[in-house]
Amino acid sequence: MTSIVQSSPDAATGHEHYRLRIEGLGVGTWDLDLATRELEWSDTARGLFAGPAGPAIAYEYFLSLIEPRDRERTEQAISRAIAGSSGLDVSFKVVGATGRSQWIRARAGLIRDEAGTPRHLSGIFLDIGEEKQLEETLRTRESHLRSILDTVPDAMIVIDGYGVIQLFSSAAERLFGYAEQEAIGRNVSELMPEPDRTRHDHYIARYRSTNERHIIGIGRIVTGKRRDGTTFPMHLSIGEMQSGGEPYFTGFVRDLTEHQQTQARLQELQSELVHVSRLSAMGEMASALAHELNQPLAAISNYMKGSRRLLAGSSDPNTAKIENAMDRAAEQALRAGQIIRRLRDFVSRGESEKRVESLAKLIEEAGALGLAGARDQNVQLRFNLDPNADLVLADRVQIQQVLVNLFRNALEAMAQSPRRELIATNAKVGDDMIEIAVSDTGTGFQDDVMPNLFQTFFTTKETGMGVGLSISRSIIEAHGGRMWAENNAAGGATFRFTLPAASNES
Ligand code: ADP
Repeated sequence: MTSIVQSSPDAATGHEHYRLRIEGLGVGTWDLDLATRELEWSDTARGLFAGPAGPAIAYEYFLSLIEPRDRERTEQAISRAIAGSSGLDVSFKVVGATGRSQWIRARAGLIRDEAGTPRHLSGIFLDIGEEKQLEETLRTRESHLRSILDTVPDAMIVIDGYGVIQLFSSAAERLFGYAEQEAIGRNVSELMPEPDRTRHDHYIARYRSTNERHIIGIGRIVTGKRRDGTTFPMHLSIGEMQSGGEPYFTGFVRDLTEHQQTQARLQELQSELVHVSRLSAMGEMASALAHELNQPLAAISNYMKGSRRLLAGSSDPNTAKIENAMDRAAEQALRAGQIIRRLRDFVSRGESEKRVESLAKLIEEAGALGLAGARDQNVQLRFNLDPNADLVLADRVQIQQVLVNLFRNALEAMAQSPRRELIATNAKVGDDMIEIAVSDTGTGFQDDVMPNLFQTFFTTKETGMGVGLSISRSIIEAHGGRMWAENNAAGGATFRFTLPAASNES
């Protein structure tokens, strides 16, 4: 505690010089006489308060210059200093005469007389407007940061150079299951399963010593671990910053669970489709075979019958046996035909399962399957779907097979086109049917192609099978619809097919 005993006149001059120097720096000096309760202050001090002229004011008047909000707190701090429990150090706001408020910090010590009785509280006033401004700016920044942390959809985690968590966003709380307060101070490796968990400290140390980037600025898919021990796929990208000479790392985490579920669903759809496609390709071939083999089989059967008639007049002792053998052969030829027809029926009947399906969903999923990579080929996709013509009665997998086939054909037809646009639309036709159109800006059809388009094994491609369109038409016809193709006026082809509409109630 400051305690100044009566000093010599020389020393007093020295103090005065010192005081003037301080004043010149914008520091106001003041002295409160505890007996008279008068506050004597320097010009600089009075300037800070925009106080009335004169070297001294009453203590009560001084207090009235302080903003009401800070007054009681300041008065208490001064009283405590007078009581001798501590030196004074208090900051408050004053409303100057101009109405502009000013932040001031007061520091002072108690001065006692020789008997040890407190006589004066003496000290300085400092203008702390700039510091307060800085504080305010920091606080604003802090609240901006908070609101970012609360709202960024990706989880955000800041760690220091030792992997210790410094910041943990709301999305991170939701994703990992830790509260922010709980997470801060933990090692970030606790959010990873083995082997990363044990190795993470080493990863950071290696980066800090070699500066070799393995994940920083690159981003990759890793596995995260929630508080309950369950793990999930996530995409992690990391940024780096320096603050106060220390490195900090900010991680942005995106949960990929849903993404992977979508991928898994697509894979499932794909394998279903492959299975059904194989089955229908087989059916289509069986039916073509049946058609092709019918003629020779019928011919065999007829030759057999003719030969048998010729044999009727023969006296050969083996006639009966030969006749019998010929009957058997004719029967077998018929049976071969039946087997093939039955196979065809069996396959074309398939496991058709008609339900109410949303066209938008069918088209979207088929798009994901058939048009993967279309964007890389610079193909513009447009699904102009009318929600009022959305519900159809259909076998999902079969219709997707039709759509995937149309989409793939369209992509192939547009491979060399300067403009590549694929449009799928739907529209109500009549009361009970919905027409779906898939049009492209590809090659369109040559005159000789159009009549054969839907024939089994018709293809103009080197590696084509030529069964896609014929299967598609069989599928659509089995649904009670029709399928046909047109050349577009502006070039390219449009395939159309109809399906029975399903009412919303069914
Ligand atoms: P594949 O694709 O194996 O040839 P498809 O039955 O699906 O068998 O198609 C038969 C033929 O129809 C193709 O080879 C092609 O000549 C023609 N075609 C199909 N789609 C289109 C289209 N969008 N544009 C132009 N030609 C097409």
